[in-house]
Amino acid sequence: MSAYCYTVVAEAETREIAEAFEAWLVEGHVEDVIEAGALEAEVIRRDDGLTLETRYVFPSREAFEVYEREQAPRLRAEGLARFPSGVRFTRTTGTSRFATRVDGLRVEIVPYARDNYAYLLHTFHPGARGKRPCVIVDPGEAKPVLAALVVHQLEPVAIWCTHHHPDHVAGVPELIAALGSLPVLGSQHDLDAHRIPQQSRGLHDGDELELFGHTFHAVAVPGHTLGAIAYVGEGMAFTGDTLFLGGCGRVFEGTMAMMHASLARLSALDPDTRLYVGHEYTESNLRFAAHVEPENDAVRTRLAEVHARRAVGRPSVPGTLREEHATNPFLRSHVEGVATFARARGSAPNEVEVFAQIREAKNAF
Ligand code: ZN
Ligand code: FE
Repeated sequence: MSAYCYTVVAEAETREIAEAFEAWLVEGHVEDVIEAGALEAEVIRRDDGLTLETRYVFPSREAFEVYEREQAPRLRAEGLARFPSGVRFTRTTGTSRFATRVDGLRVEIVPYARDNYAYLLHTFHPGARGKRPCVIVDPGEAKPVLAALVVHQLEPVAIWCTHHHPDHVAGVPELIAALGSLPVLGSQHDLDAHRIPQQSRGLHDGDELELFGHTFHAVAVPGHTLGAIAYVGEGMAFTGDTLFLGGCGRVFEGTMAMMHASLARLSALDPDTRLYVGHEYTESNLRFAAHVEPENDAVRTRLAEVHARRAVGRPSVPGTLREEHATNPFLRSHVEGVATFARARGSAPNEVEVFAQIREAKNAF
């Protein structure tokens, strides 16, 4: 069995149409094709700004043919209905040999409980046989993770925990019972406190983690808990309950100054960083953001987008840090509108105090 690569080229008449088409692809369509049998997909916009190339990788030519027969007509019809004019399609012949290496890391999102997310981080090697290695991030429950491992044919090599709260780590013992011994990573603080089940390694701020030829770092982000860490690398960040999309976690163990500093560190990452957060709180967070900054158009637009995604059951993750900079009040203590909101609720002489006032207001919202 060898992987099968298939490319669709779409030429849009204008840049606006190209942008809308690209958004439609990356915000849902490629995920639909993956659900329908593809292993991997990537969307590339050519330098002309008008041509989009979408490359799909199927496990085999046979799998692609099944997809073509049973799923593709419905999925293509959705695209044609959405873009009845302005986009011209060329379907290039598939090939079983790869001209380019597909080596990006991929993240499977595993929703569980009411609003939690675990993640499976893995890489795809074209033509590889059998199961592919992955890392499990924040398994608060074992069963949904075990099911996703089967669906995506993944074999865990480690468990990464962002912090010790049971809704992020309670699935660890059952996973290890089912899968055999696995390294369990968390902060040195949580290891010393013995509060992540079966933790085998304690991470310090800045520790490097090598994963499938890619490098990640542990970033200490105390505030929600004293042992909270984020896993950052390769253009992505797993932020646990420190940074949410449109919001942040409650400050349980640390101080407001600590949480503010932790969020500032995450906020300083590359703006294109994709954020994989611990909970699906985005919609209610953005409602609060609109309350803080009623004049902020970016908040309103994003709230509508997220609402539409959630209405059809799609996760709002991953977001980008760029979107957070524009919409998340907890990263915007320096912005006048946010400071004004905070001052109206008490003394807010500096950014930490502004942050603290906003955090208090959110607790009561
Ligand atoms: Zn938590
Ligand atoms: Fe949590």
